[in-house]
Amino acid sequence: MTKIKPQPGIMEIALYQGGASQLPGHNDVLKLSSNENPLGPPSSAMKAVAEAAAQLHRYPPTDHAELRAAIADLWSLDPERILCGVGSDEVLQIVIQAYAGVGDEIIFTEHGFSMYPILTHMAGATPVCVPEKNRVVDVDTVLAAVTDKTRLVLITNPGNPTGTVLPEGELERLADALPADVILVIDGAYTEYAEGFDGGAALAETRPNVLMTRTFSKVYGLGGLRIGWGYGPQEMIDVMRRIRQPFNLSGVQLAAAEAAAKDRDWLRTCVDLNAEQRSRLTDAVRQLGLACDDSSANFVLVRCADAAEADAADQAFKAAGILIRRVPGYGFPEGLRITVGDARQTDRVIAALTNWRTTG
Ligand SMILES: *Cc1c(COP(=O)(O)O)cnc(C)c1O
Repeated sequence: MTKIKPQPGIMEIALYQGGASQLPGHNDVLKLSSNENPLGPPSSAMKAVAEAAAQLHRYPPTDHAELRAAIADLWSLDPERILCGVGSDEVLQIVIQAYAGVGDEIIFTEHGFSMYPILTHMAGATPVCVPEKNRVVDVDTVLAAVTDKTRLVLITNPGNPTGTVLPEGELERLADALPADVILVIDGAYTEYAEGFDGGAALAETRPNVLMTRTFSKVYGLGGLRIGWGYGPQEMIDVMRRIRQPFNLSGVQLAAAEAAAKDRDWLRTCVDLNAEQRSRLTDAVRQLGLACDDSSANFVLVRCADAAEADAADQAFKAAGILIRRVPGYGFPEGLRITVGDARQTDRVIAALTNWRTTG
C-alpha cells in the first residue's frame, strides 16, 4: 500500500461529465449538448489564430494587456481590474484557491454549475449546496446557509441548466446582506444572451466583495480555445494575479479573444439568432405539452413528466441523430437541456420532438 496521500478533498472529486459528442451510426450528428455556438467561431478570430500561429516559437505576453483593453472597451470596464484565465473555469479556480481552504465553506445552489463542487474540493474546502425555489436562486435560502466559515458564494446567472435569471435587485440584496468577508461570485457565462442583464458588472464595479466571471466559450463560439475572464475589486484581482500562471494564455488564445471582443457585429448576430430560435423552440415545446421556463441563455430546459419519459425523449432524439444533455446531476432527472441551434437545426429538433410526441 502506498504511503503517498493526495491533499484533502481531492479524492472527493467526481470527474466532470462533458456533453456527448459521438453518436455511432449517424453521419449527420447534431450536437446540442454543450451550449456551443451554432455559427461556430467568428471568422475574425479564425484569421487572428492563423496569424498568431506564425509566432508559436514566441512566449506570449504575461500581462494580457491588449485583450484586457479590448474587453474593457467593449463592456466599459477598468482594464486594471480584469483577470484573464483558461476559460472562466480557471478564474473560478483561482478565486477559490486564493480565498478558501480546509475548514472553509463555499455555498452554491442545487442547480448551480457542476464545476463548483469540483473546484471546492480542489481547494480542500467544504461544499454547501442549498435548494433553489422553482428553479430560481433564492436569496434568503442562500443567506440562511451562511456561517462564520463561509468564504465564497457562487451564483450562476443566468442559471445552467435552468436558463432562469435572478433579477439584478435580488443580486444586489444578496451582495448587501452577505458578511463583508464573504465573496459573492457571479458566474455570467450566458450574460450576453440575457436581455438587459449586465452580468453583475455594476456590483463588481462598486462592491469590495463581488467578482463577476465571463467567458469566450459561449456567445463567442470559442469553447475549444479556452478563454475566460473575471472582473472585481482591485485588491481581489491583485491577490488572484499572484497565483495565475504567467503564461496561462497562449498567443493564439489571446489573439482570438481580442479579435472576437472587437467583433461587435458578431455579438449582435449571435444574440439575435439565439433569441429568435430560442423563442421558436420554447413555443414548440410548450405546444407539445412539455414544461419549459423562459430561458435567458442559449439553451432551454425541457421538463418531462418523469425520468422515464425523459429517457424516451432522449432515445427519440438519438434516433434522429440529435445529441442533447440529460441533467440528472443538476437535480433534473426529468430534464432535457437542449442548446439552441440555428433555424435549420431548430427545425430538426422540433421535428424530432413532434414525431416522438405524436407517434412515440
Ligand atoms: C459554460 C459555462 C462556463 C464557462 O466555462 P469556460 O471555462 O469559460 O468554458 C462557466 N459557467 C457555466 C455555468 C457554464 O455553463
